Amino acid sequence: MMQFACLIDASAKYGNVGSRCHVCGTSQLRQQFLVPLLDGPHRPNKRAQDRKIYRCDLCGHLSADLYDLSQYANYYESLSTDYHYCHDFDRSRYQQILDNIPKQSVRRVLDIGCGTGTFLAMLPPDVERFGIEPARAATSSARARGVEVVEYVDLMKPELRNTFDLVTAIDVIEHIADLQHFRQHVIAALRPGGMVVLLTGNTASRSARLLGSHWSYLHYAEHVSFFSPQSMRVWLHPTFSNIELTSTNHHQLNSKEALTLLRIWLLFPGKWIFRKLFPVRLNMYTALSLPGDHMLVRAICN
Ligand SMILES: [Zn+2]
Repeated sequence: MMQFACLIDASAKYGNVGSRCHVCGTSQLRQQFLVPLLDGPHRPNKRAQDRKIYRCDLCGHLSADLYDLSQYANYYESLSTDYHYCHDFDRSRYQQILDNIPKQSVRRVLDIGCGTGTFLAMLPPDVERFGIEPARAATSSARARGVEVVEYVDLMKPELRNTFDLVTAIDVIEHIADLQHFRQHVIAALRPGGMVVLLTGNTASRSARLLGSHWSYLHYAEHVSFFSPQSMRVWLHPTFSNIELTSTNHHQLNSKEALTLLRIWLLFPGKWIFRKLFPVRLNMYTALSLPGDHMLVRAICN
């Protein structure tokens, strides 16, 4: 495990992550890892080979440097629908969300990062479906599935503000650097007593702690915010209550599928080989999340 313990020099180039923790606001950040930079908006930049991951001493949250808001925004906006179809090859993650929501009381749902609307399409037909999605190509597919695609600013309008029974963000929050901005919009969307459900990586999971800087989840340049149950609770406090954090898998694989993935993993320990062999949108690397390295978060908006 590559580990450092130097306080960040405030003058160091630090992108938009800033010199403060985006969860708790402290400036007590230490460089924790130096990891290879794969995928995402930095792909065309041959000089960007690795990045630093910082740990907050107070809440344990991990954040990545090299975050340029405009660069990331352009990247997400230009993604093709292949990106989402590739991520949708296994719908078990959506099913586990469905299994964890009170369906009887959910009539109006907002899915942040809705992609082509796959999750929303799995909801009962009488549910009102809304989505936020930066990828332009995906929004037309989502609309074709009956999703009303809105923008963040729309959530402040009277017709949408505090009207949603459920807000979901499935594999989304790890892509977001400005977590307070994101939090404000989740709160703006939810009605009092409404539920937020998140699926994201868990830095305190056994897999993540065992692998340290080799945990593949840290290597995606798209991922910039890494939660533990502790930092998630800090982020949700004090607006949310009844917080439930459940350790889970990104993909609910059966044993045969798990064995196949393990074989692939063992055959290709050098992940850069994948980068050479597969274009990013067909990258099987996405399937290589590890058992228990995610968490499912449920909380009620007060
Ligand atoms: Zn913190």
